Amino acid sequence: MLNLVLFGPPGAGKGTQSAFLVERYHLVHLSTGDLFRYNIKNETELGVLAKSYMAKGQLVPDSVTISMLEDAVNKNPEANGFIFDGFPRTNAQAAALDAFLNSQDTGITSMIALEAPEAELRVRLAERAKTSGRPDDADPAVIQNRIDVYNNETAPVKAFYEAQGKYKGINGVGSIEEITERLVAIIDTL
Ligand code: ADP
Repeated sequence: MLNLVLFGPPGAGKGTQSAFLVERYHLVHLSTGDLFRYNIKNETELGVLAKSYMAKGQLVPDSVTISMLEDAVNKNPEANGFIFDGFPRTNAQAAALDAFLNSQDTGITSMIALEAPEAELRVRLAERAKTSGRPDDADPAVIQNRIDVYNNETAPVKAFYEAQGKYKGINGVGSIEEITERLVAIIDTL
């Protein structure tokens, strides 16, 4: 299986690039942000809980997020592999993902990070707010909180995969096509 963690701060372009990678490598795209938004739209119990955290730019608690992600993997038993987008976002989530995949005789092939400076991210999120309809894109204080949470809680996940020799970073600034080419150049060597 080809199991990729696509990593990077809010606005790095994970969702945009995932759409292309899914086609090219026949993978299942699992975005925890999308799964939460689906639950919010359908007013599930999980959605009601997630909304209270997402609206403030905080992380949804690990236990809830991990079990939602495991359910989503279990619903795709025929998958060639997965792109994990927005997950893991804490070291506890990364450890849980390893344990879960190991129990299925598989594991993470590589974490690929899209790197971009904060000033660029702020511009992109403000631009996305015009069309995304996402309340967490519309409020600069919430955007700042998401960036802070990324720096404090999520950035350390890089070291988790570095310790396993699985971390690869690429420059996330450029055209969508240029960044896709950088990703493909790495994935084709895996
Ligand atoms: P972005 O990366 O642009 O901030 P996402 O769609 O990935 O957007 O996530 C939106 C929000 O959903 C996050 O700010 C957080 O509240 C919640 N969320 C998504 N993934 C996770 C996760 N793995 N753990 C906890 N909360 C999450």
